[in-house]
Amino acid sequence: MRAASATELVDAATAGNPRAVARLISLVEDASGQLREIMALLAPRAGHAQVIGLTGSPGVGKSTSTSALVSAFRARDLRVGVLAIDPSSPFTGGALLGDRVRMQEHATDPGVYIRSLASRGHLGGLSWATPQALRVLDAAGFDVVLVETVGVGQAEVDIASLADCTLVLLAPGMGDGVQAAKAGILEIADVFVVNKADRDGAENTYRELTHMIALAGPAAASQGGWRPPVLKAVASRGEGIAEVVDAIADHRAWLVEHGVLDARRRRRAADEIEQIALTRLRLRMGDLRDGSLLHSLAADVVAGLTDPYTAADRVVAGLATTQPRHA
Ligand code: GDP
Repeated sequence: MRAASATELVDAATAGNPRAVARLISLVEDASGQLREIMALLAPRAGHAQVIGLTGSPGVGKSTSTSALVSAFRARDLRVGVLAIDPSSPFTGGALLGDRVRMQEHATDPGVYIRSLASRGHLGGLSWATPQALRVLDAAGFDVVLVETVGVGQAEVDIASLADCTLVLLAPGMGDGVQAAKAGILEIADVFVVNKADRDGAENTYRELTHMIALAGPAAASQGGWRPPVLKAVASRGEGIAEVVDAIADHRAWLVEHGVLDARRRRRAADEIEQIALTRLRLRMGDLRDGSLLHSLAADVVAGLTDPYTAADRVVAGLATTQPRHA
């Protein structure tokens, strides 16, 4: 069978064909050479989706909450894409989506598209691939895209820089406690959810967290003055999920009112440009390592004919004026 052209794939994906969406995301994972053309075709059709990030330690209930949120958005007649970012394994599909048992109820719903994203060893990794996969879902007409990632702070993908709204999930008895988890969460959370509110210790977790937020004083400048609310939920029973949806809507209204939404989206685009540029420079640097320029400069430095700064200037000038072999 003839491979579909970029235009055919993009047309099919924007018409809502899930196979075309899947194919485009696979091309992103593979860092396909077709991406340049595909992104150019997608760009004018994107920019409508509301991007919601969801993060927390393993076991806090992210996939359960994601599934419950999908149901809540579907009940509002919104089309929902789910992107599960999987840093654990580029080859097995990883543990994050694993069985996705909790997603099964959405498997046959044409208004829902669920996909895990792995980077298949591409130099730029997931921080390179994720915004591009997001653009695919956005252009494919999903009203809401939920991006689920493990962990806070150390995550390979900085979810807060991608999302319009970042939900940070905590749960009692997770072993790490609020204090241990606090590195970074105050800066990135737009909405806190204490999940497993049916469990002993939930009240403690809630109190610790609200105390921590109060101690932190006025909201971080990165949030532009928004004070993240702390909500309780029992995701496995769908309890508290409507309140989470309301909080996301409140946050969005606030973002729009304060002009922060556009600023966030520009920051996201800036990050994406930087990732693509850095990756191209790295590729080009790899080409350079294989080529003769770097070797001859190195020989000159060893021979005392030039110094490493001058040599580096020549390398940087060379990087800027030539194309890498790929990407
Ligand atoms: P993830 O690793 O963060 O995606 O967490 P999961 O969604 O896979 O949930 C981990 C476990 O916690 C599963 O066994 C869920 O059924 C359970 N779980 C999720 N939400 C709740 C909740 O609100 N209360 C209780 N008691 N268990 C929950």
